[in-house]
Amino acid sequence: MNDGSGFTRNVDGRDRMEKKKDKINPLDVAIKQVDIAAERLKLDPGLCEKIKQTKRELIVHFPVKMDDGSVKIFTGYRVQHNVTRGPGKGGIRYHPDVDLDEVKALAMWMTWKASVVNIPFGGAKGGVQCDPKSMSLRELENMTRRFTWEIAMMIGPDQDIPAPDVNTNPQVMAWIMDTYSILKGYSVHGVVTGKPLELGGSLGRFEATGKGVFITAQEAARHINLPIEGARVVVQGAGNVGGIAAQYFDRAGAKVIAISDSKGGVYNKKGLDVSAVLDCKKRYYCVIIPEARGGEEITNEELLELDCDILVPSALENQITHKNVRKIRAKIIAEGANGPTTPEADKILYDRGIFVVPDILANAGGVTVSYFEWVQNLQELLWSEEEISERLTRIMKRSFAEVLTISQREKVDMRTAALVLGIGRVAEATKLRGIYP
Ligand code: NAD
Repeated sequence: MNDGSGFTRNVDGRDRMEKKKDKINPLDVAIKQVDIAAERLKLDPGLCEKIKQTKRELIVHFPVKMDDGSVKIFTGYRVQHNVTRGPGKGGIRYHPDVDLDEVKALAMWMTWKASVVNIPFGGAKGGVQCDPKSMSLRELENMTRRFTWEIAMMIGPDQDIPAPDVNTNPQVMAWIMDTYSILKGYSVHGVVTGKPLELGGSLGRFEATGKGVFITAQEAARHINLPIEGARVVVQGAGNVGGIAAQYFDRAGAKVIAISDSKGGVYNKKGLDVSAVLDCKKRYYCVIIPEARGGEEITNEELLELDCDILVPSALENQITHKNVRKIRAKIIAEGANGPTTPEADKILYDRGIFVVPDILANAGGVTVSYFEWVQNLQELLWSEEEISERLTRIMKRSFAEVLTISQREKVDMRTAALVLGIGRVAEATKLRGIYP
């Protein structure tokens, strides 16, 4: 909204306020999940309160020069949830719905995720409330660089290391790394992960999250005796996570029958040509262009309810809720996205015998290879793709097995088991460090 002063405010508007009223708050979901796990772990109430709280929250309002000569004010966030086990780690999201509670929830999930795969990171997250699809490349660069400057006091290779998330990519990471390096006066590769290879990025990082989703879904399929070959797979979100996961399923002989993005989905019960659909997404920023469809158009709501073997929600939070959970027909849900299922829906999925590979396990491949990238940057090492793939596969399989063992021993769903593992490790580390002074 331009008020004629040359300055434009990034105002929500009434429609968005209305929409927000109906929204399930992801922070409520994240806190409820901690309560469920804390009860199992019989955590001391003081300790439980400590690990529920975020350590630091920074909100910044900053100006950006737009292409038309106006100046627009954006709001950005960086939150460190917990750094007990290591520096904060977590992506940066560009989306109109980004707000403090969402970033806090995402930061909390990062803490548990790093702990589930047992890598020495804490949890953090960041984001800017913006509509990147309506911005030019130059505006995105200006916004990224100014946001980096604003949060520079909080990030750094020993403190907090951002990475890509929704609507951010290796190019955005390169701008962050460059801006931070200019501030410091020397190149600081380790300040972000998910960088382009030319700037100290790691082989295998771009594919890591989707690949991890595939590996854990494969382990789940083995557990319930479902052959991956011929399995019918539905993927919500054709971005970095969902797009890569779809390719792995396709290569393994599964039948990807539906894929979607924010504009809708495409469905063919005989199986889609995954490469053609993703190529279409790359060229037209959309999977439902008629020339590449090879199937019928469906909505995101319909896609989630399709009859399939493996459902891979890889877009945003709160997709499987009390409203649609009884209509879900998948045998396995492998959560590529963070927070796609609410606690109410979780309980019903468990009762219905649907096997859920929870986000903090299924999508932990990204943070795992981010850790490899950080280690290589700090030690100036260059690992081969084979080395990275072998290490990632080993960690994902081991973590899946550990979570499954807890789930069977405690007779709880996989999410509670993963939280028990992740929160248990953070609680133990907190006790060992003690409360200062
Ligand atoms: P991305 O921006 O690359 O892709 C997101 C995709 O989701 C896009 O295709 C977009 O069109 C689609 N989308 C957006 N809103 C949608 C909606 N309402 N319905 C259906 N599709 C929709 O983002 P990404 O990096 O693939 O992240 C996707 C999810 O995975 C997020 O929840 C993110 O937090 C999580 N995640 C990402 C990583 C990573 O390494 N990138 C790691 C762990 C978890």
